[in-house]
Amino acid sequence: MSGILVVAEHDAGVFRRTAWELLGKAAALATELKTTVSAVVLGDAPAADLGSAGAARVIHVTGDFATYSTAATTAALNAVITAEKPDVVLAASATLGRDAIPRLAARLGTGVGTEVTDLRAEGGAVVGRRPLYSGKCFADVRVVRAPAFFTVRPNSFPQPTRSGAPAPVTAMAAPAASDGVTVLEKRAPSTATVDLTVADRIVSGGRSLKSKEAFDTVIRPLAASVGATVGASRAAVDAGYAGHSEQVGQTGKVVNPTLYLAMGISGAIQHLAGMRTSKVIVAVNKDPEAPIFEHATYGLVGDLFEIAPKLTAAFAAS
Ligand SMILES: Cc1cc2nc3c(=O)[nH]c(=O)nc-3n(C[C@H](O)[C@H](O)[C@H](O)COP(=O)(O)OP(=O)(O)OC[C@H]3O[C@@H](n4cnc5c(N)ncnc54)[C@H](O)[C@@H]3O)c2cc1C
Repeated sequence: MSGILVVAEHDAGVFRRTAWELLGKAAALATELKTTVSAVVLGDAPAADLGSAGAARVIHVTGDFATYSTAATTAALNAVITAEKPDVVLAASATLGRDAIPRLAARLGTGVGTEVTDLRAEGGAVVGRRPLYSGKCFADVRVVRAPAFFTVRPNSFPQPTRSGAPAPVTAMAAPAASDGVTVLEKRAPSTATVDLTVADRIVSGGRSLKSKEAFDTVIRPLAASVGATVGASRAAVDAGYAGHSEQVGQTGKVVNPTLYLAMGISGAIQHLAGMRTSKVIVAVNKDPEAPIFEHATYGLVGDLFEIAPKLTAAFAAS
């Protein structure tokens, strides 16, 4: 193996949780495969810090990457991968992972295992495991050409202990690239909470809330009390109780938190498609036969309008 390259994403210089998760996993795989881990950073960020989680080297592409650009990102990563020739490239399954990574795989004549939730070393190569059919079964994916690209769902791996020395950094100027797009305005999300796709805790509400007011006064305070991001079923979104960006599921966002609290959500297959891989699922539903209970780690049969305020008070007091 000539190495594992991690695409370490950051927001205005602060590395995302996913960058650390991927580095930690890459370091463990590299030990098994007797190879090394390097990282690539686009734009202004403390690249050397990645050494603390196992990056032996960091390639720092200098240039303006403050606003995501398909052309600039693809060109920069293409230049780094062509120069470094890694055997494996890992990126988070978020905007860059969904947009630039498949383009690069096509451009370089190789393949990509998308949305994997686990990676392992086997027979001298990296194998990814991805959920299929809304999480009903899993497929093991091995990319037969190099580099093997994998995009990994956020929260699939624990945060590593950061104890290593700073990594040596090689600077590279961003190659010229244009996709003919001019960004006119950037709008920040309306809430200050963590984006659903990377959230560690999520509290979601369903149609059972019956009004936007109830959603705002029951679900949002519960989420705030436990430091969670708010999610919703499509029925709740369609009814106007929650925003489209808050929808979880097949036609919404795919999430992978440590804790998913489903309040008055039946557990339709399309909703499960978005949250089934959550590590701990807590369901509150007044119907003991609700399908969500088949997937819940803990289930509470009862009226959410009675249970939610009690949970909110208990979490707020703890
Ligand atoms: C192509 C397609 C794509 C779809 N994509 C998505 C998607 O991305 N995400 C998604 O969520 N859905 C999606 N759906 C819709 C999905 O099929 C369900 O209709 C939807 O998930 C139901 O939302 P719900 O659980 O909030 O509502 P319901 O199915 O109506 O369930 C409400 C639940 O609340 C319980 N309840 C009622 N009152 C209370 C109370 N007071 N206390 C406790 N429990 C109570 C009920 O027992 C029931 O189980 C899609 C459907 C299609 C056809």
